[in-house]
Amino acid sequence: MSRVVYVNGQWRPFRSAVVHVEDRGYQFADGVYEVCEVRGGRLVDERRHTDRLVRSLSELRISLPLPLSALSVVLHEAVRRNRVRDGLVYLQVTRGVARRDHGFPPPGTRPSLVVSAKRIDPAAGEAAARAGIAVVTVPETRWARVDIKAIALLPNVLAKQAAREQGAREAWFVDRDGFVTEGASSNAWIVTGQGELATRPVGPDILRGISREVVKEVAAAAGLTLVERPFTVAEALAAREAFVTAASQIVMPVVRIDGHPVAGGAPGPVAARLRAAFHRHAEFS
Ligand code: PLP
Repeated sequence: MSRVVYVNGQWRPFRSAVVHVEDRGYQFADGVYEVCEVRGGRLVDERRHTDRLVRSLSELRISLPLPLSALSVVLHEAVRRNRVRDGLVYLQVTRGVARRDHGFPPPGTRPSLVVSAKRIDPAAGEAAARAGIAVVTVPETRWARVDIKAIALLPNVLAKQAAREQGAREAWFVDRDGFVTEGASSNAWIVTGQGELATRPVGPDILRGISREVVKEVAAAAGLTLVERPFTVAEALAAREAFVTAASQIVMPVVRIDGHPVAGGAPGPVAARLRAAFHRHAEFS
């Protein structure tokens, strides 16, 4: 069975699915997205992802393309029709199709909705977590509202490519004061010398990661102390452990930063424990 994708009310073969050239997502990156993990054929934390979607849309004054109950049906259909057991569901909403003009399109322009699902080999993620990943640091060059999960991702694209060119899997943005904001597609964490978890507090300068929220709960249940505060690259290099969180990564140990080893260059026990317990705290639907 070949892959299918949902485009504005219809299921299309993946290879021939298209959007209009004047879709505002294509013209202006005028839209938002969500990525939800699929595990054992079920969605992980769907409700939290749709809550964040609703918030992103409302911050940009884009209307919801479908009632949430119908959207949930489409998300599950994407998983079912593509026979995804383990993988990701991607959804994107844009301000719709209209004659190119920066200001909002005429009232009544319908937002566009695309939903796709793909398989991911869970063994590859586990192998990466056993080895740990390398990150590089790049200056923070994004706009001031990265709490909105907008499809405009050019700085993230450039950061990820810089990482790749240096043999790393992720890039950490570093603000003007030397503090890590977050990864190009993940939130950043350390375990300090005192054994406390530290991650940047939510605000307009990071995405409120769903995995970040789940890991907070996992950490609390494990009796770990969490301090929500920014940390520097030097602190991360001196930390007991460093890791990133994202729906596509779960909890992924960081073992090198800019070519320097973190904690002897091997994944640590805290990240492993948080990763192992993660899905006990996630909601499945
Ligand atoms: N920060 C950024 C910039 C991201 O793109 C992502 C995920 O793609 C995250 C953080 C982690 O968010 P979540 O845990 O909801 O996947």
